[in-house]
Amino acid sequence: MTERVIEHSITASYIVASVLFIVGLKRLSSPATARSGNLLAAVGMLIAVVATLLNREIIEFQYIVIGLVVGSGIGVIMARMVKMTAMPQMVAVFNGFGGAASSLVAADELLRLAEGGAVPVVVTVTGLASTIIGTVTFSGSMIAFGKLQGFVPSPPVLLPARNLINATLGIAAIGFAAWGIATPAAPEIPFTVASVLALALGVLLVIPIGGADMPVVIALLNSYSGLAAAATGFVLDNDVLIISGALVGASGIILTRIMTRAMNRSMMNVVFGGFGAVTAAAPVLGAAAEKPYRSASAEDAATVLRYARNVIVVPGYGLAVAQAQHGVKLLADLLKDRGVSVKYAIHPVAGRMPGHMNVLLAEANVPYDELYDMDQINDEFARADVAVVIGANDVVNPAARHDTASPLYGMPILNADKAAQVLVLKRSMAPGFSGVDNELFYLPNTMMLFGDAQKSVTALAAAVKQM
Ligand code: NDP
Repeated sequence: MTERVIEHSITASYIVASVLFIVGLKRLSSPATARSGNLLAAVGMLIAVVATLLNREIIEFQYIVIGLVVGSGIGVIMARMVKMTAMPQMVAVFNGFGGAASSLVAADELLRLAEGGAVPVVVTVTGLASTIIGTVTFSGSMIAFGKLQGFVPSPPVLLPARNLINATLGIAAIGFAAWGIATPAAPEIPFTVASVLALALGVLLVIPIGGADMPVVIALLNSYSGLAAAATGFVLDNDVLIISGALVGASGIILTRIMTRAMNRSMMNVVFGGFGAVTAAAPVLGAAAEKPYRSASAEDAATVLRYARNVIVVPGYGLAVAQAQHGVKLLADLLKDRGVSVKYAIHPVAGRMPGHMNVLLAEANVPYDELYDMDQINDEFARADVAVVIGANDVVNPAARHDTASPLYGMPILNADKAAQVLVLKRSMAPGFSGVDNELFYLPNTMMLFGDAQKSVTALAAAVKQM
């Protein structure tokens, strides 16, 4: 093949890969098409990788092959072994390595070009951006991983004047990296200092954030890793890297917006840290102990469900912890066999990562068309006979509507309290992630069924079967 044919084939492959990324991303927006979307994007990535390997500038293939084999092996093992509840950690690791790879490639290319003389301004700016953002993403993601995995203490660590320290570190890192480019004879030392400063910045940006808030930060770091990749694309003059990086950057930022909105926090709050400190407030348990509530047996609860016509299930984090999804599906099937309509109301931040509930319920083969987003179903609660809240808490706390003192105030919630009867399945009266008491549990139309969600749904299903 001539040089030109190879070049055109690479360009054509990159266009095909980019189209596959975009179509794949679009298909990820619905659970029904998400699987095929994922596959399309993966095929796009394969095409992009193969096309890149055709590049004539590659001198030796052995390291690439070793990297491919080792990386693919680790990827397959991790994907098979990781539990659904540990998915945020896995994404954190991916983001971190993605950021590190972009940063290393950009730094290397920048230093190589600097040795050869004047580096174009665009390449200098994007190279610096990738080196710094990629390194920050790496160390930040490692801290996020450590917090979620329990290696790093989870509570927020709030240093005094942290924003000033962070700004100083950021400016100093850029300064050193720029100095490295300006002195092509000995750029290694300033570049190393810049990288160390960026590593420290990543750590300091993430430590002020509480462990339970980490998934939002991971979405933001995901966006950073995309930006770093796009910037590296400019350094290498590689279109598919620019496009895929921009897609990751944009989708990460959109996801962060969706999550911060659904959790009633501002993006600034996340970027400037201290995020999660509010939610670390002590649980209001004193009040909980004094107020009366209604505790029910599985048989009482099953009777209520059996005679209902419309039931809306609200899944939450506790359902994921208890792995109760299969039991919930069984219960729903039994109810449907008895003529009861069953729908699922999915809050955007129910659980500990976006889409957590959709994935769990899909795993149990709950039909997609029974899953409803908050906006689609919220008006239906007023017409529902029973709302069954399973291991969910904050996302159904009515205080979010009216209690201006509550950390949840302003957070959009599912209107479970508007149903004729509310059945809450959890182990105790303990608060959820936000640490505040839930008024829903004390309403006259609420019944509490205490116990592990899996055991409770199994007991409910057994009782419904008897009827
Ligand atoms: P919550 O954390 O508010 O409540 C979960 C409830 O599950 C707890 O009250 C707990 O009560 C119960 N629970 C725990 N284990 C079990 C079990 N084995 N069986 C039965 N119940 C159990 O969860 P929600 O899903 O309602 O809300 C999610 C929260 O997480 C929100 O505050 C959200 O902002 C936040 N968040 C969400 C993110 C996302 O992207 N999805 C990201 C970061 C945070 P008990 O101990 O009594 O059993």
